[in-house]
Amino acid sequence: MELEREVRYLRGVGPGRAALLARLGIRTVGDLLRYCPRRHEDRRSIAPLGQLAVGQATTFRGRVVDQRELRPRAGLVISQAVLEDGTGRVRLVWFNQPWRLRDAAPGRELVAFGTAQWRYRELQVQNPEYEVLEGGDLLQVGRMVPVYRLTEGLNQRGMRRLVWQVLEDGGAVVEDPLPEELRSRRSLVSLQRALRGIHFPADFLDLEAARRRLAFDELFGMQKALAAGRRERAGVVKGLRYGPPGALTRAMLERLPFALTAGQRRSLEEIWADLERPEPMYRLLQGDVGSGKTVVAAAALLRAVEAGHQGALMVPTELLAEQHAANLRRLVEPLGVRLDLLTGGQPKREREAVQERLAAGEAGVVVGTHALVQEGVRFARLALAVIDEQHRFGVRQRELLPEKGERPDLLVMTATPIPRTLILTLYGDMAVSLIDSLPPGRRPVKTFFLERNRREEAYGFLERQVGAGHLAYVVCPLIEESEAMAARAAAQLADQLRRRFAGDGVGLVHGRMPFREREAVMEEFRTGRQRILVATTVIEVGMDVPEATVMVVEGAERFGLAQLHQLRGRVGRGDAPGYCLLLEGKGTPEARERLSTLAGLTDGFAVAEADLKARGPGEFFGTRQHGLPDLVVADPLRDADLLLEAREEAQLAEGLEPAAAALPRRG
Ligand code: ADP
Ligand code: MG
Repeated sequence: MELEREVRYLRGVGPGRAALLARLGIRTVGDLLRYCPRRHEDRRSIAPLGQLAVGQATTFRGRVVDQRELRPRAGLVISQAVLEDGTGRVRLVWFNQPWRLRDAAPGRELVAFGTAQWRYRELQVQNPEYEVLEGGDLLQVGRMVPVYRLTEGLNQRGMRRLVWQVLEDGGAVVEDPLPEELRSRRSLVSLQRALRGIHFPADFLDLEAARRRLAFDELFGMQKALAAGRRERAGVVKGLRYGPPGALTRAMLERLPFALTAGQRRSLEEIWADLERPEPMYRLLQGDVGSGKTVVAAAALLRAVEAGHQGALMVPTELLAEQHAANLRRLVEPLGVRLDLLTGGQPKREREAVQERLAAGEAGVVVGTHALVQEGVRFARLALAVIDEQHRFGVRQRELLPEKGERPDLLVMTATPIPRTLILTLYGDMAVSLIDSLPPGRRPVKTFFLERNRREEAYGFLERQVGAGHLAYVVCPLIEESEAMAARAAAQLADQLRRRFAGDGVGLVHGRMPFREREAVMEEFRTGRQRILVATTVIEVGMDVPEATVMVVEGAERFGLAQLHQLRGRVGRGDAPGYCLLLEGKGTPEARERLSTLAGLTDGFAVAEADLKARGPGEFFGTRQHGLPDLVVADPLRDADLLLEAREEAQLAEGLEPAAAALPRRG
């Protein structure tokens, strides 16, 4: 049976069932075989009812001999079914699930899973999982049994049968794309064995071998794509070349009110060396929040301008674009370099004027949002594309900006420190620079977690800080559903705070605000006319207001640790120490523990690792992150070693010298 065959042509699958399967993403036989079970139930040994161990989760089976329904009081329905198997009996009990008795009808055979207890002098299992067995249903018991994530209208039993049918009919012809030699080198089982083992393994070892093989395939595919990209780029020559660093760049660096840190200097040297090479730069610059990536980017952009070319800096939010533009202007405009801003929220006329200057080659550096990669935008001589806060863009988007030039240099920057294994997953084909220390004198933001009843304390502290002449942020709980909802919640919180802090001025920014309005609010805050800024996560990246010393985060448990670390990086950027008060919204013990961890961690890398462990890679990047490749079976954390093996094989397959893992140099 071919893997491309559509499931609707399988025996027992009509259009109706095919539609349900499609909801799970299963269209072909191949999809079905790769639809991995959520877990397996060990039904190899089924306990005779006479030997059910009390207090232990067990699988058992029996025939329903009796059932009844009790309604001891309003609002409570107790459904009971009694199972027997010749060795003993057990009573199954469900609360307020009257439909259970339709399944557990007398005469039917059930296999069930649950923990038995002594109640009223008999064995009872409350709220067991169960399945109804039908004649000849040997797939469902006496073995390791897969449990799938299903949708309404499908059941476990049917799904197992379908997969089994396909494995039995078609298993023999699954062709293995991996050469025998590679498989034995890496101790991988055949694809055929893996596809069978992932559904119906003989035991847990068999299951792990299957999982490892399928995980390898995912990682290998991804690493091959990265390696292919690297091979394609090898030998490519960029369209525009650089001269040596000139007076402009030197002047900018000399005019800085501070000395670059060792990490900044090293990164800048690495970037400059790349610029001078004939092939385009393809580099990731990593550095914790506040490590000073912007000046490094600026010094690279100036090299482009100096050589008579253009540079572009793309950032994920308008707010950040506006702010970067303002900061960079201060650096480059005194040197006579024109800096433009391009965002979607800008008035049309302004945007068009900027676009004209870019096309005519009049603009040297442009800062913007994804408006930069819109169709109508043309650059006369784009030599360097810089993407800030790359983790907030998708992988595809990072490719779009360079397409505006003739094989330009590309620098991506990220402040979510990315654990090593994820770097290989996401940026395995890039060179990496690391700024590994903060500018001198920067103290870690003191972070406190406050339970719900201590909200008043938090605002009391904020009041004192503001009273002492500092500025404060209040961050609203995360609402991912819609920008509009987030905006509404922010407005409510601002109103509430305005009543209390009338004299200090309470500003409000959120993602739905028009450009001008937001710009005005930011200006009021920066200049201290409004001393408290209520905001959604639009301020997460890049905000740089040195007078801000305190941040209160409402509903902190909704945020990831890495995100909170980003947020708190907004305070304590000046001379006074910074404080971050994490307020609990609806707390759970796990959330409390997670948030308390953050109070003790100051290094962004440690935070990222902790976050990744707590929530897994998908959540780690938040739902808006699209950069993570589709990994279903593989887990870049758990399968770190496998990832390295897949990477080596991918490089071999693409005929590349195995590159040293793209690891940042530590100072
Ligand atoms: P991030 O890496 O988070 O983007 P920024 O580039 O926004 O950090 O820099 C944070 C702040 O640190 C800015 O106010 C910047 O001017 C300042 N800064 C950058 N480099 C240094 C340095 N070497 N010494 C002192 N301050 C610095
Ligand atoms: Mg930054």
